[in-house]
Amino acid sequence: MGLHLAERPTRILVDLDRISGNLRTIRAHAGVPVMAIVKANAYGLGLVPVARHLQEQGVEHLGVAFPEEGIALRRAGITVPILVLGGIYAPQVAQYLRHDLEVTVSSVDKLRQVEAAAQALGKRATVHLKVDTGMQRIGVHAWSAGPFIEAAVASRWIDLAGIYSHLACSDDPDSPVTALQLERFEEACAHFGRIGAPVPRRHIANSGGILHFPETRLDMVRPGILLYGVLPGVDCRPSVPVEPAMSMVSRVVYFKVVERGHPVSYGGTWAPAADTRVVTVPIGYGDGYPRALSSRGRVLLHGREYPIVGRVCMDQFMVDIGRDSAWNEDEVVLIGRQGGARLRAEDVAQAAGMIPYEVLVGLNDRIPREYRGGGLAGS
Ligand SMILES: *Cc1c(COP(=O)(O)O)cnc(C)c1O
Repeated sequence: MGLHLAERPTRILVDLDRISGNLRTIRAHAGVPVMAIVKANAYGLGLVPVARHLQEQGVEHLGVAFPEEGIALRRAGITVPILVLGGIYAPQVAQYLRHDLEVTVSSVDKLRQVEAAAQALGKRATVHLKVDTGMQRIGVHAWSAGPFIEAAVASRWIDLAGIYSHLACSDDPDSPVTALQLERFEEACAHFGRIGAPVPRRHIANSGGILHFPETRLDMVRPGILLYGVLPGVDCRPSVPVEPAMSMVSRVVYFKVVERGHPVSYGGTWAPAADTRVVTVPIGYGDGYPRALSSRGRVLLHGREYPIVGRVCMDQFMVDIGRDSAWNEDEVVLIGRQGGARLRAEDVAQAAGMIPYEVLVGLNDRIPREYRGGGLAGS
């Protein structure tokens, strides 16, 4: 973590009550337990504060991508079950067991690695089996899941806590792929019945599944981006009324008049057609604010939208405010609301030609996070 002065003009504001509100909304909508996905620094909102708040709010399960993320949570005193979603790397397996992290087992070979580590430590591993139903990322193909399930059921060194798969196209409400994936998954899960073994918790729904395909809820849902109040993509249906939990603000640090024809920023890619007023905002791609927003992004100032002009620099960018006025220290909203205006992470992503995930996850540690709500005093 870098040094953050209390007076830093740029900050990400995280409303913890919104996150727990979204958790309740999703849980009520899905009607099943929730595994809250907090990988990649909780989508940029802050791994430990977000997970701690979710635990206080009674979340059933947490999901991370890598064991390091799970270990960071355990060190911070998080005690709820944590599943590591990523494919395991054999040299790390013992770490999962030492820190009480649930393991994704995605092949019979990996099952043997986990068993070996468990036996060596004299400690059973808690495992979720991963079935590939159409993502071709990790997991045993659904049509060969039988022997895999049998090996897991027979193992003395593992406790089976779940079986899961991942949806590839659930952000598209019209895609036929999701129904096909669900059918393959259910067929694979039916193998437990055929061998007379209890079925562990089945889960497949990510945010898109929760939004568009209610039949994918099964025994647990795994929302990531939706928990933070952001939709996976522009074509998603807002069928679950979540609210954005993060906003990002900065402040004007410079004001000037730019004369007609005088180019602004690196490369001189933009120049005003008439004399105009331009303000400078102290955040750039060095903070993870996308350079793709050069002459394409918008910000809010005094409750109105204005365009970013010229290239976004590493630490600053410029905004054309036309004939309007602005003063140093005026608030600039990069994501969020100001007055009656609103700029969502989805809008920023669209302007940048990115997906909302990239925008959120890209915002790095140079930007301080400020937490509100969650029973914390003040801000
Ligand atoms: C990231 C991830 C999720 C959450 O995805 P969202 O689209 O953010 O809801 C769920 N499951 C797995 C396996 C993931 O990797």
